Amino acid sequence: MVAEEIGLNDHLESLGLTVVETDLGEYIIQLRHELPSHIIAPALHLVKQQVADTFREQHSQFEANRPLVEPRELTDEARTVLREKFLAADVGITGANFLIAETGQTVIVTNEGNGDLTQTLPRVHIVISSIEKAVPTLEDVSVILRILARSATGQEFSAYTTFSSGPKRSDDLDGPEEFHVVLLDNGRSAVLGTEAEETLRCIRCGACMNHCPVYGAVGGHAYGWVVPGPIGGALDPALIGLSEARHLPNASTFCGRCESVADEDPADQDHASLAGEGVRVGPDAGILPARLQAGAWAARRLRLYRLGARLAIGTLGLLGRRRGRFRQPAAGLRLDARFATCRPLRAGPSRTSGPGRCANGDGGP
Ligand code: SF4
Repeated sequence: MVAEEIGLNDHLESLGLTVVETDLGEYIIQLRHELPSHIIAPALHLVKQQVADTFREQHSQFEANRPLVEPRELTDEARTVLREKFLAADVGITGANFLIAETGQTVIVTNEGNGDLTQTLPRVHIVISSIEKAVPTLEDVSVILRILARSATGQEFSAYTTFSSGPKRSDDLDGPEEFHVVLLDNGRSAVLGTEAEETLRCIRCGACMNHCPVYGAVGGHAYGWVVPGPIGGALDPALIGLSEARHLPNASTFCGRCESVADEDPADQDHASLAGEGVRVGPDAGILPARLQAGAWAARRLRLYRLGARLAIGTLGLLGRRRGRFRQPAAGLRLDARFATCRPLRAGPSRTSGPGRCANGDGGP
């Protein structure tokens, strides 16, 4: 997730390095030059046949008429390809689900074991983690790990939970020779101490998006940034500002379905309220609140409001020349026109070239 957030893969590839995603879902969408559509199930938007077609196209080293129907066959093929990549890699980069302040350890959970292979086989292991992943003690982590697995996938515990403490010691059989931890801020410090601070308690379990009717209707790509769904609507404006995430706070029906998982949600967040707070504290805070305040001020003055509405109707009628539509949207309508044409990129020159993910370069559902 943090690699997506900072466009790491694109940058490394621009330096001539070969970058291979090792999570199965991430690997599939990397082959397809797509973005993740869910924070814990990146290829959720694809069906088996699409994965099989992608493998036939990209894995030309295998027989063309091999069976690729069952999930097991698809997984076995990806595993065969990825195992060689693990063995050949010079550097393994992982994220961290948690950083333990008490012990200085990083923690990663996976259900595929790819995190362990990434951090033990290459000579160098680099952990990139955002700063809000830090928790005080080992005991705290042990509680949150159970909640994470239960909320994310309904498991008692994730299949692989790995604590890393540093490079290989002289009497260790395995492990990297070098171990580096990179802490990513990217706007988070500015959110600390504000009303949107609670967004930083999110442990990225994905439960809120699993329950969200808006997410279910539009899918993760439509949100336009790395973190989609209800928590994205709250977190993204706070981190990247309204110029990039201005539609996200509106991607809520205020139905409260995401809060129906609040008992399980360690962040226990009111996403709809937090979306408003994200708007208020983001890098370009004040733009939308100022517009809303101006609208509210006008709406409370009925005569002025009616006069303004009549003027707007007449102006729109003139601009539309009574055809009921505009060829070129008027300046004040550009936002809605972009909204209508916004769609996810299926393929493009860059997977992570910036927060805007839509075909028109605009973000948002
Ligand atoms: S806001 Fe809560 S439910 Fe949503 S991803 Fe974060 S921890 Fe999970």
